[in-house]
Amino acid sequence: MLRDDPLYIDGAWRRGSAGTHTAIIDPATGTELGKLSHAGAKDLDDAAAAALRGFQVWSRTSAYDRSRVLRAAAQKLRERADDIAASMTREQGKPLREAKMEVVASADIVDWCAEEGRRVYVRGIPGRRPDIRQVAAPEPVGPVAAFTPWNFPVSQPIRKVAAALAAGCSMVLKPSEETPSAGIAIVEAFHDAGLPPGVLNLLFGDPAFVSSSLIPDPRIRKVSFTGSIPVGKQLAALAAQYMKPCTMELGGHAPVLVFDNVGVEATAKAIAAGKFRNAGQVCISPTRLFVQRGQYKDFVDAFSARASSMRLGPGHDDKTEMGPLANARRLSSIESFTEDARKAGARIAAGGARHGNAGNFWSPTVVADVPEHARLLTEEPFGPIVAILPFDSEEEVIARANALPFGLAAYMFDGDAHRADRVAAALEVGMVSINQGPLALPETPFGGVKESGYGREGGAEALLPYLVTKFISHAPP
Ligand code: NAD
Repeated sequence: MLRDDPLYIDGAWRRGSAGTHTAIIDPATGTELGKLSHAGAKDLDDAAAAALRGFQVWSRTSAYDRSRVLRAAAQKLRERADDIAASMTREQGKPLREAKMEVVASADIVDWCAEEGRRVYVRGIPGRRPDIRQVAAPEPVGPVAAFTPWNFPVSQPIRKVAAALAAGCSMVLKPSEETPSAGIAIVEAFHDAGLPPGVLNLLFGDPAFVSSSLIPDPRIRKVSFTGSIPVGKQLAALAAQYMKPCTMELGGHAPVLVFDNVGVEATAKAIAAGKFRNAGQVCISPTRLFVQRGQYKDFVDAFSARASSMRLGPGHDDKTEMGPLANARRLSSIESFTEDARKAGARIAAGGARHGNAGNFWSPTVVADVPEHARLLTEEPFGPIVAILPFDSEEEVIARANALPFGLAAYMFDGDAHRADRVAAALEVGMVSINQGPLALPETPFGGVKESGYGREGGAEALLPYLVTKFISHAPP
C-alpha cells in the first residue's frame, strides 16, 4: 500500500536514491507493512533547487490565489479522511477515531492558515516629511526545511506546511520515516489541489543526514522542527552557524494542579482522557499531577480506577480506547521509567506492565507517592504513565510545577477563579488550560518557553515564523 516512489520533488514522485530504507512496522502486531526508500545526496540537492524555484513562483502568487489552493487541499484531506486515518492507525497505532479527528482537525488548520494568509497587512509609517511614503512590509522568508515526528503524523506536518505556504514560502518537508503515509497523503492533497511544482517537496531518509545537508544549504532560509529537546538543540545549534531562524516545538512535562475544591471523579476523568489519548505520546500530555493533600488519596483511587478500566487493543477496533505505543523504543522507555520509580520506592497504583505479548501495548500506569529523585519526575516520559503527588499550598505547588527546565503546557483544576488567574500568571509555560483538558486548535497559539522551545504554531501567530519585515522608505526623486 505504501508508494514505492515516496519522495516528491519538483512536482514528481520518485524513489530515494540512497539505497537504504526504513521497514514500516505495525505497532499493534509487529508485522512489516512495507519498506520506505531513503533520499540520497542527489535527491536532497534536487529538493533544495526545486524549493528555490517553487519559492520564486509561489511568493509572487497572490495571497488570494494561494488561499484558494490551500482551501482546495483542505477539502481533499476531508474527502480522504477515512483512508488517511486508516493508514495512520496501521503505522502509528492510535485508535481510528483519534486518527480521523486528527485529519479533520488538520483540514481546519489549512483553512485557518489560508484565511490568515489573506490578512498579512503592510503597515504604513508616517514619514518625517509629507512627501515621504514608507511601509513595513512582511515578506515570506524563503524556502523552509521542516522536520516532524511520528506522534501526530498528519497534524504536525500540516501545522508547518499550511502556515509556510499561506505566507508564500516553499518547503522541503521531512516527516518521520516511521509513519510515512500521512506525509505522502498531505502532499497528494496539495498536488491534486493544483499546487505548482517545487512549492512543497517531500523527503524521507536518514534524519541526521537530511538535516545536516539541508540546514546549511544556502537555498534554505528557515528551519522548523518538532521533536525531542536533544535533537532540537542540535538542529538549532547547526542553524545558528548559518544564522537561520528556527521554530522549535520540543518536549514538555506538563504539571496539573488539582486544588481541593473540585469534584474528584469528574476531574480524574477529564485528566485521564487527556493523559491516555494517543497512548500519552503527546508533548502536552499531563504527566505530573499535583493534588492538594485533602483529596489526594481519593484522587489516586479515582484516577487509578479509570486507568485500569481503559480498553486496550488495535487501533482499528472501534472498542479500543488506547492503542499500542508507536514503536519499540517507547515500550522499553516506559518500562524503564516504571522500574526506576519502583526501585525509588514509589507505589504503582495501576498498570506497570506490558499488556499482552504481541505488539507494543503497555497498560495505563499510575505511579503514586513518587520520591523526588525518580526519573519520572525530571525526564519527559512520553507515554501512558503518570506521577501523582500531594501538595499543601499554592506557593509550594507553583514552585514545584516550575522546577523543571520544560515549559510547554500546564493544567489546573480550581473552583476559585481569582486564584486560578493568579496561578496561571505564575506558571512558566507557553499554554495553560484551566478546568479542562489539553487544547490545540487552529485559532489558538501553540508553543513553549524554556527548553520546550520557541516560536508559535497556530492562532494569529501561525504565519509569523514564515514572514520577515522589510522596511521601505520612498522619497520623491
Ligand atoms: P528522537 O529524538 O530520536 O526523534 C524525534 C523526531 O526527530 C523523530 O521524528 C526523528 O525522525 C527526528 N529526528 C531525530 N534525529 C534527527 C536529526 N538529526 N535531524 C532531523 N530530525 C531528526 O526521539 P524518538 O525516539 O523518535 O521520540 C522520543 C522522544 O521524542 C520523546 O521522548 C519526546 O520527547 C520527543 N518527541 C516529541 C514530540 C513533540 O511533539 N514535541 C514528538 C515526538 C517525539
